[in-house]
Amino acid sequence: VKQTKTAGNTQVYHPQAFTLARAQFAMETALRHAIEREELHLAYQPICDLSTGKVVSFEALARWRDADGRDHFPSDFIPVAEESGLIVPLGRWAIDRALSQLTEWDRRAGGHCGIRMSVNVSAIQLQRDVIPDVIEQALARTALTGDRLTLELTESAIVGDPDRVTGIMEALKALGTMVAMDDFGTGYSSLAYLQRLPIDVLKIDRSFVSGMLADRDKIAIVRAILGLAQALGMKTTAEGIETVELGQTLAALGCTYGQGYVYARPLDPDAAWAMIAAQA
Ligand code: C2E
Ligand code: MG
Ligand code: MG
Ligand code: MG
Repeated sequence: VKQTKTAGNTQVYHPQAFTLARAQFAMETALRHAIEREELHLAYQPICDLSTGKVVSFEALARWRDADGRDHFPSDFIPVAEESGLIVPLGRWAIDRALSQLTEWDRRAGGHCGIRMSVNVSAIQLQRDVIPDVIEQALARTALTGDRLTLELTESAIVGDPDRVTGIMEALKALGTMVAMDDFGTGYSSLAYLQRLPIDVLKIDRSFVSGMLADRDKIAIVRAILGLAQALGMKTTAEGIETVELGQTLAALGCTYGQGYVYARPLDPDAAWAMIAAQA
């Protein structure tokens, strides 16, 4: 750390911060090219109905293997995409790609394949893009009905401008598209928003779910979320289910859906199709 004294105030330079900024910029440039050249792909993780064990939906999760064959994970590149604004084209691509995949599965099934698709939409994209129009156009391109799609939004998406978000959610509702509140319990939204917004599903964050069998506090939080969702007429999805016992406990507690490595990791399209075909 270098310090220079200028006109009585001390400025501190962090060489690491500079290196970090350069690394961010390098990743941003690489990501921009990756989006343009369609080097990103989606992995699909099943979401199961906990009472029947059937797959009801897949969550589309972005993956990026760069030109050097290195894999980058969303926890690294989504924040870069959000800071640079690249999340808008990335998010539009994800919606299009996921819906095209669903039509491909319908085609293979010879009709409705019985599965919905969940796509993550960043708070930044929700602010900057006209999401209902984007969805309507994507649906028109694929000739799918809106009820095949669930958008996963985080709490940060609603805290900015709740009135605008209410309008967006109502427009989505008119299309038949469901809205899930992702990572619920980790953000800053108030319970008043839950009452006011047309949210269909609460996704209970993995941090409460994993390890909850050995932690009274976590189980209390999970029960409280399940009770709240039930009282408000919302469905629930538990994330991060890694053991059979955890899935059974959540089912017994009344959680609607479950997602986690015990059912399947995020899969490539063929492996996902194999799961759909196996239960048809
Ligand atoms: P998320 O939407 O909460 O997605 C669930 C994450 O939990 C995924 O991580 C998934 O692989 C992981 N997961 C699922 N089951 C288990 C489990 O049993 N154990 C453990 N340890 N992890 C599990 P992933 O794919 O790395 O994605 C991380 C986050 O990046 C996502 O969290 C989402 O917020 C974001 N993301 C991913 N793809 C997109 C995208 O296309 N658009 C946007 N805006 N965000 C995305
Ligand atoms: Mg999600
Ligand atoms: Mg989540
Ligand atoms: Mg999460």
